[in-house]
Amino acid sequence: MPLTLYNTLTRRKEPFAPIEPGKVRMYVCGITAYNYFHVGNARVFVIFDVVRRYLQWLGYEVRYVQNFTDIDDKILNRAVADGTTMQAIADRFIAAYFEDADRLNILRADAYPRATHTIDGIQRLIHELEQRQYAYAADGDVYYAVRQFPEYGKLSGRKLDEMQAGASGRVDVEEDADKKKDPADFALWKAAKPGEPSWESPWGNGRPGWHVECSAMVRDELGELIDIHAGGMDLTFPHHENEIAQSEAVTGKPLARYWLHNGFINMDGEKMSKSLGNFRLTRDLLAKYDPMAFRLFVLQAQYRKPIDFTSDALEAAENGWKTLKEALQFEMQFAALSGWSPVNATELSQKSVELDQEAVDRFNEAMDDDFNTPIALSVIFELAKTLTREGNQLVHQGKPDLPIAQLQRQWQTFISLLKVLGLDVQQPSRFVVRTGQPGLLEIFGDGGTFAVGLTDAEVDALVQQRQEARQAKNWAESDRIRNELQAQGVTLIDHKDGVTRWHRN
Ligand SMILES: [Zn+2]
Repeated sequence: MPLTLYNTLTRRKEPFAPIEPGKVRMYVCGITAYNYFHVGNARVFVIFDVVRRYLQWLGYEVRYVQNFTDIDDKILNRAVADGTTMQAIADRFIAAYFEDADRLNILRADAYPRATHTIDGIQRLIHELEQRQYAYAADGDVYYAVRQFPEYGKLSGRKLDEMQAGASGRVDVEEDADKKKDPADFALWKAAKPGEPSWESPWGNGRPGWHVECSAMVRDELGELIDIHAGGMDLTFPHHENEIAQSEAVTGKPLARYWLHNGFINMDGEKMSKSLGNFRLTRDLLAKYDPMAFRLFVLQAQYRKPIDFTSDALEAAENGWKTLKEALQFEMQFAALSGWSPVNATELSQKSVELDQEAVDRFNEAMDDDFNTPIALSVIFELAKTLTREGNQLVHQGKPDLPIAQLQRQWQTFISLLKVLGLDVQQPSRFVVRTGQPGLLEIFGDGGTFAVGLTDAEVDALVQQRQEARQAKNWAESDRIRNELQAQGVTLIDHKDGVTRWHRN
């Protein structure tokens, strides 16, 4: 089955066929840089990062562009509140975007156009719209005349006559109302207000409206017709509807072949929204949870479905990520006991390796079906289960049950598929050498050649030994054992009843 994806424009799943064979041009609407981005934004960036990685996995060369809106009322308001400039606010939150996105292992885009760096392209587009009678100037503003574009509403399925008057997104409706010929018209250019940044233009000093920025940036960076235009579902109307109206009125061609929109994140059962005050910033979330656990949380749902953000769901994702990390120990166990050195994650991207074709086929089949990541993940978890089991067999019995060549293929497949989903597979950099005597552990750095994690029985034995030290009030010894276990990723919890329980991190 070829890759099929749900196209918001046609409201059905369609086979994917790029404009130019082997190449994909893709645009994702980015942040408005007035704050740290919230978890709803994070879902957008993770999902379309996975779409990009999967297209690359299928062999496509992907050009991926994501913009920054760096001029907007929200940024101006924040600049006033903070006593600084619009540019300083935008620069600060663009830098913060990269910090948070990097932690989520989101690949860097090929280009990050900024609205304020695209003023020429924006003015050219507005000028062309004016020439073709799709735009009119009014008192220093320029508006798009939606009734001139017969296909207006084709993306969102809204009919012009049913739309609420002035539903033009971020434009301040009240003060513009008397300048518009039709309440549904939206601003392409806004006359300068005192004290605000502005640019010279044929219509007087002013600044661009939000929607026209993206039309101009897509055209500048990717051309007049692109393969995939993507964003959160809330952008379908008016933002993407308006982008279509602007771009297609000028070029006479479709702006994008496929329009992809992801579902919302609900916070404890309610839609996340500013008015409900239940917004969560990604940065706050990452202070508490592993970024890869959040990534896993996002990918556990098909991207068009809503997902419920609860602490239980995040903790479940953390456990899931621990399971995958445990399977990553396999490489060390194997290197230590079998003499075989598996291809590690870094090498894997540099050479072609043999894979478990059956697992790859099932993974691809799921992803080909409109990026069904929950099913794709189940293939990865099955591989993890086998690797962990075989790794334990190796430690306990000195040899695995499955043939080494098969395990090697499974290992390589496990690492490769994790990478397709952007789940960071950096292996532990600290190796532990087992001396054969419980409690005598030495830790070596990256150069270690003999590396084995502790078995459950050995952890139990150490915990018992520590218990005896505590009873003898030998606190130094008790702490030493705790620290050694900690260094190997085992955390101890002393309960009030005197029992010590442990878990792997
Ligand atoms: Zn956009």
